[in-house]
Amino acid sequence: MLSRSSSVSFVLGISPLRRARCPSERLTCEFHERDYRFMNLALEQAKLAYDEGEVPVGCVLVSEDGEILSMGRNRVHNKMDCTCHAEMECLRSAMATANNWRLLGSVIYCTLEPCLMCLGAIQLARVAKLKYGADDLRMGAVHSWISVPSVKHPFHEVKISGGLLAAESSNLLRQFFRQQRTEGRTE
Ligand SMILES: [Zn+2]
Repeated sequence: MLSRSSSVSFVLGISPLRRARCPSERLTCEFHERDYRFMNLALEQAKLAYDEGEVPVGCVLVSEDGEILSMGRNRVHNKMDCTCHAEMECLRSAMATANNWRLLGSVIYCTLEPCLMCLGAIQLARVAKLKYGADDLRMGAVHSWISVPSVKHPFHEVKISGGLLAAESSNLLRQFFRQQRTEGRTE
């Protein structure tokens, strides 16, 4: 039998929420089916980065209505530019297409917790929501290394949730770094 909330979701045509393993009690960790779909696309971007010899991180940016605005993947080594993280590639592409640096109402899906630079760019672009996968213990700016959202912003708060397909994302990263060690390459 359907619970009251799931029957309401059904009537509204919204898929029921699924709860991911929550990386922090400060974050929302409930996701709709479409969140999984978009994060799977971000994971495909991460796999493309892997094939290009890059740390496998991918991103997808969608509009309020669920239209895909852009995708991006890590390209730091190939562009020899430390600012070419997946999020930056994704945001730059969407801003160029829209000819607008404000990406109001958009949602960004990132396979990895964004770093300070990327979280700053997400904030500057007025992205409405960030949904990410695995935690980045070394560079994560949501809660792992530092916690930018713990300080209230005066005019734009990005709504953040984490843990979406986190295992898939971290397995890919682990596999990548294992291969790098086997081949005698280090960061
Ligand atoms: Zn970054």
